[in-house]
Amino acid sequence: MEEKLMRKLGSGSLDFDAYFSEKAKAMKASEIRELLKLVESGDVISLAGGLPAPETFPVETIRKITAEVLTSHADKALQYGTTKGFTPLRLALAEWMKNRYAIPTSKVDIMIVAGSQQALDLIGRVFINPGDVVVVEGPTYLAALNAFKYYDPRFISIPMDDEGMKVELLEEKLEQLRREGKKVKFVYTVSTFQNPAGVTMSLERRKRLVELADEYDFLIVEDNPYSELRYSGEPIPPIKHFDDQGRVLYLGTFSKILAPGFRLGWITGSPHFIRKIEIAKQAVDLCANTFGQVIAWKYVEEGYLDEHIEEIVEFYRPRRDAMLEALEEYMPEGVRWTRPDGGMFIWVTLPEGIDTKLMAEKAIRKGVAYVPGEAFFAHREVKNTMRLNFTYVPEETIREGVKRLAQVIEDEMKALRG
Ligand code: PMP
Repeated sequence: MEEKLMRKLGSGSLDFDAYFSEKAKAMKASEIRELLKLVESGDVISLAGGLPAPETFPVETIRKITAEVLTSHADKALQYGTTKGFTPLRLALAEWMKNRYAIPTSKVDIMIVAGSQQALDLIGRVFINPGDVVVVEGPTYLAALNAFKYYDPRFISIPMDDEGMKVELLEEKLEQLRREGKKVKFVYTVSTFQNPAGVTMSLERRKRLVELADEYDFLIVEDNPYSELRYSGEPIPPIKHFDDQGRVLYLGTFSKILAPGFRLGWITGSPHFIRKIEIAKQAVDLCANTFGQVIAWKYVEEGYLDEHIEEIVEFYRPRRDAMLEALEEYMPEGVRWTRPDGGMFIWVTLPEGIDTKLMAEKAIRKGVAYVPGEAFFAHREVKNTMRLNFTYVPEETIREGVKRLAQVIEDEMKALRG
């Protein structure tokens, strides 16, 4: 629709593209969004999205709190706020993080942002000079790559296994860079139930990463939207917990534990860093949505958040189980996948030689969509992987989707064998 309109309006003489900045010219639409457009039509089961299930949105609670806020706090809720965020919310979050993650909040500051996505962009603004080395996981969160890319870093991608980023490989890289007289600016990690791979960085690796940060003098950006969605296994402290130097910037978000529509997240770190990020945010949007912040404050303060987390965990666990069971039942020999204890995604690796991007259209024709893995790698170095989401559709649909997908993969493997 948009493209049609653009073509129609663009048929005049104005060369629209010529007006864009060089940076804008280099921007590309997210492939996931492009793919999802295809899925909207017809009987396609989408395991491609990354959305929470709308049935989980705490609508009644939000209705109740909103009425209270309009009755008692309208003066603040409907006014501009400070860039750093609504103070009662910041304090409530500090308390919540201290209780939940044992993050000692006395040495850190908290700033409210318009979703953790905004924090990623602000971090790019504040820390990345062109050519600075930014280490990411391979695979990593696609929209973080896109946010950082704007500031022209040099990405180094560190492979992962079931225990997250292979920190020993990072160490080799750090040594190599040191020999070249270079340093890493920061390591970006989605430490728990990673998007896209679903894996969690082990405790040992977390501690080692912090030691390396001290030894080689770099920062760590820990992006943690999923750790509350734990369906099995024991909780593990965030990397931020082990940070006594103030090297870790920790990102949290309400998107998966309240609703993404609020566009509210937070960033926790040393006051010195937060101050600069705050100045950067001032120029971007003055402040995050104040109305939402006041609602979110009540939601945390009155204990709804913890209750809701318990509910969504119960809601999603059967979906995670259904996908794991269906993969076990239907996938042909030679296909591997991760077994996440939480989050929203499972990462599937097909035999070498299969290009999941080329296969995606065939899958859609057979009625199932996934996200090809290539775009999650900083250098697009891997072609035979895909991300599957298990939170959005019900169990039976997940089973049917995986069954269809297994058939497509089997056909592809047959074709590959000739
Ligand atoms: N980081 C990661 C790893 C994510 O998966 C997402 C959401 N898909 C975000 C950040 C952005 O979340 P928010 O809605 O808080 O901007």
